[in-house]
Amino acid sequence: MEDRISRIIIVGGGSAGWLSAGVIAAEHRIDSQAQQPFELVLIESPDVPTIGVGEGTWPSMRTTLKRIGLSETDFIRESDASFKQGTCFRNWQSGSGKGDDDSYSHPFTVPIGYADSNLVPHWLALTDAPQFADAVTPQTALFADCLAPKQITTPEYAFMVNYGYHLDAGKFAELLRKHCTEKLGVRHVKANVLQINAAENGDIKSVTTDCAGEIAGDLFIDCTGTSSLLLGEHFKIPFQSRQQYLFNDTALAAQVPYTEENQAIQSCTHSTAQTAGWIWDIGLPTRRGTGHVYSSAHISEDEATAQLLTYIKDIAGDRAAASVVPRKIRFQPGHRREFWHRNCVAIGMSSGFIEPLEASALVLVELAAGMIAEQLPPTRAAMDIVAKRYNQKFLRHWNQIIEFLKLHYVLSARDDSPYWQDNRAATSIPEKLGEQLLLWRYRSPWHQDAEAVDDLFPSASYQYILYGMGFKTVPRHTGSYQQDQQQRQAVELFQKNAARAAQLQQALPGNRELLNKVREFGFQKL
Ligand SMILES: Cc1cc2nc3c(=O)[nH]c(=O)nc-3n(C[C@H](O)[C@H](O)[C@H](O)COP(=O)(O)OP(=O)(O)OC[C@H]3O[C@@H](n4cnc5c(N)ncnc54)[C@H](O)[C@@H]3O)c2cc1C
Repeated sequence: MEDRISRIIIVGGGSAGWLSAGVIAAEHRIDSQAQQPFELVLIESPDVPTIGVGEGTWPSMRTTLKRIGLSETDFIRESDASFKQGTCFRNWQSGSGKGDDDSYSHPFTVPIGYADSNLVPHWLALTDAPQFADAVTPQTALFADCLAPKQITTPEYAFMVNYGYHLDAGKFAELLRKHCTEKLGVRHVKANVLQINAAENGDIKSVTTDCAGEIAGDLFIDCTGTSSLLLGEHFKIPFQSRQQYLFNDTALAAQVPYTEENQAIQSCTHSTAQTAGWIWDIGLPTRRGTGHVYSSAHISEDEATAQLLTYIKDIAGDRAAASVVPRKIRFQPGHRREFWHRNCVAIGMSSGFIEPLEASALVLVELAAGMIAEQLPPTRAAMDIVAKRYNQKFLRHWNQIIEFLKLHYVLSARDDSPYWQDNRAATSIPEKLGEQLLLWRYRSPWHQDAEAVDDLFPSASYQYILYGMGFKTVPRHTGSYQQDQQQRQAVELFQKNAARAAQLQQALPGNRELLNKVREFGFQKL
């Protein structure tokens, strides 16, 4: 084959670059001595730092790590990782500050019986119903006690309740680098890319570096972060701002120590709404990662900093609040109009970024790397077809992420600042979301709402947010016998769920206890 893809160049060594390298290298066994299908080179600047945040993952990360052959025990030990079972949102509804009265969860486990039964109408029919998530999944009961999703005897990557991770982004990239270069056959070049060189047909032919000369390739993966050197700067693919829907454009990130050596580690990310944004709080074994994501058009940096420091003071005391110096990160919410252009595809921050409310950036990296690995065009001629499909798929993913994140803001009844009022203005609501909200007044989200099998957020996720935030659906009741029978079956499922929650609360260790055991003994290998 004349135009065979024999060399893939990844530029950038953050989480996006190394995850992409790992997934593609493992899928194609490029470490094979006998018949290397292609060469995979990752070029990373020794001078430009990685973004250094990005600490929450989805459960998909378990599949990705397993796919690249990384042991879960090594991953937990070396990335300072802990278990994440979902997100708990506080003060999003009314901002009353009354703790449990204004909090709800988006757990990673789908409702009990989800494949066959939509429990929402039956939950709505209950008198004195518990919170929706508490009624349909045992997972939220584990949040309160900071419990782990499994036991030390549960094999690597297996679970008793579904989970992803909280991790240290810097340590994670370093672990991936070591694994990719030592086990998977990825060639690592430490150099600054200074220039991008075009071939006669308009493709990228090569990149010129400061200390490793000119490096040629057939497919280039742009993982250069927000600078988007290849897709943005070289190909000039326009950036599409989505700030008309999601206003947040600044983050203040801070690391906070635990107040006691053996303090419990939270089972979920906490997201606490503020007057013009929200604060994340992520528990790692050695520290907490916190940060305030806000809209600079609605609040000054000083005020945003003061809100973050008040939060830190509450969780870690005066001394911690006095000693942290938050790091400011500006970003423009949006993405490139196209993600794959000619022989160049952008993954990670170089393709776009939207506030991390549902930690949806790394999962997009995993999906992108997975699709490229599985559908890797064997020849240049086949590449444009794969690129077209890729662009359609990822535009759909971005749109769904934007709609799903916006749902959190649209449903809020907070009225304490223009930020929350502006968030409910009709002009700031994506058209499709507006239509869905109208339909969901009469029936709850369900499987038929899915646009494609690989939708990022299933109807279960919409149910958790809508009913967690007190959305009113008034279903049509016919009062038929079948409905009575279905209601009885649903009540049995609610009871079964409560029993399962009690059983798991007894059986599961605390997060810290399990993480200490993993450090000492490790999980059973699969
Ligand atoms: C405040 C905040 C919170 C976030 N939280 C989450 C979260 O909880 N969950 C989640 O999934 N995501 C989160 N993200 C997103 C996540 O951090 C990123 O998606 C992820 O880290 C991937 O980044 P990256 O590899 O694309 O870019 P970077 O980490 O910026 O890496 C860019 C790489 O390109 C290299 N480079 C740049 N220029 C050159 C050059 N000229 N030559 C050679 N190399 C070059 C750099 O050296 C670096 O290695 C968050 C982002 C922000 C801003």
